[in-house]
Amino acid sequence: MSKKNMYQPIFGSEASKENVILDKIRTESLDATLAYRLVKDQLINEGNARQNMATFCQTYMEPEATQLMAETFEKNAIDKTEYPSTAKIEQACINIIGDLWNVPNQNKMIGTSTVGSSEACMLGGMAMKFKWRKEAEERGIDINKQKPNLVISSGYQVCWEKFCVYWDIELRTVPMDEEHMSIDTKKVLDYVDEYTIGIVGILGITYTGKYDNIKDLDNKVEEFNKKNNRNLGIHVDGASGAMFAPFTTPDLEWDFRLKNVVSINTSGHKYGLVYPGVGWIIWRDKEFLPEELIFNVSYLGGEMPTMAINFSRSASQVIGQYYNFYRFGFNGYKEIHLRTREVAMTISEAIEEIGIFDIYNNGDNLPIVCYRLKPEVDVNWNLYDLADRLQMKGWQVPAYPLPENLDSILIQRFVCRGDFGMNMARSLIEDIKLAVTELNKANVSMHKNEKIHTQGFTH
Ligand SMILES: *Cc1c(COP(=O)(O)O)cnc(C)c1O
Repeated sequence: MSKKNMYQPIFGSEASKENVILDKIRTESLDATLAYRLVKDQLINEGNARQNMATFCQTYMEPEATQLMAETFEKNAIDKTEYPSTAKIEQACINIIGDLWNVPNQNKMIGTSTVGSSEACMLGGMAMKFKWRKEAEERGIDINKQKPNLVISSGYQVCWEKFCVYWDIELRTVPMDEEHMSIDTKKVLDYVDEYTIGIVGILGITYTGKYDNIKDLDNKVEEFNKKNNRNLGIHVDGASGAMFAPFTTPDLEWDFRLKNVVSINTSGHKYGLVYPGVGWIIWRDKEFLPEELIFNVSYLGGEMPTMAINFSRSASQVIGQYYNFYRFGFNGYKEIHLRTREVAMTISEAIEEIGIFDIYNNGDNLPIVCYRLKPEVDVNWNLYDLADRLQMKGWQVPAYPLPENLDSILIQRFVCRGDFGMNMARSLIEDIKLAVTELNKANVSMHKNEKIHTQGFTH
């Protein structure tokens, strides 16, 4: 590095004139301050994460958490011998989460951290597949005659499609209807046969934020198992809800209180309030996690079981998760989540008052507000236009069709997160009202003849 660079004003430098986005590594090194500024500036036109109403993922952590995480970036979560205290902290998180999910016996449960719910769902799905195979063989089923299948509502998140593609499983979807907007527990067993590895219940359907009725599902599965002498299990995809419901609706039974719920996953980076990526999965009993899926890594001269798909990754997210549990406590999480819910319900009421929207979710379970334009309303614009208008004020809001069966319905969704306070909500409400007034006056509509499609992320 030439000395000259270090004393040069950043915006007078040669580097500031060159393209930052390269196809090939630079030949010479660059001064760190200069590199920092130029790379950072390259991201300047991106949306402000706090105004990203499309994502469930955490967009704010306290400075102490950020500092702690930054100071532990170098710790590799898989190196249990080198970082035994980190390993203990991971296990403490699993114990805390197991307890929040009412696991009947902490000594029998087993679980792990993951990169996110996607990895956790892969593990949950694989465990069900291996267990099904063993039991199907014992029942004398020809396991090669047809593909095994997984039963889930059509409101599934894309990770389940991935799981089924990667592991050659048929994804059997139970269509949602407009009345339930979640799994139809009256119909779900019609989709089950000898080749069903399990049923996935979703606590927090990505599209609408609704909860599947897991208790009802459990009753149906219990009857089915008794009648058919089977051990069909339920995996709960609680990516968003499993870190929300325990604090806000502790009496709602959706977790290990239900006999046939064998495993649950969640995203620590959604309502666990940690930056991406951390997820968790817990099996109620080791018996639901086939041995073949457990590997050992060395730990303090002995061995420790691991079941994650990923190997190396930073332990800092796990430490961030622990910080939150330790710092907020149960009541802290509860206060944050209840307030977030209040914010969502306030937004929902304000949108309903405008009079031209049908509300699909008013935020009283997960703090998600989701609505469509009333079909009978005669306006010259659609939800894509509204999304564009809101974007002018920095709000990123998705508009997208509902899943199969309901895919002629275009909806819009606001995901409220812990860092989205009542004052931000008031600004948003004002901006929505203003946008609607302006759209009603405007005679140019950008998206009038567009087919229904997905605009913005819906994960
Ligand atoms: C977000 C989400 C996922 C995927 O979670 P990641 O942590 O982003 O991998 C899976 N299922 C549901 C229901 C989700 O909401």
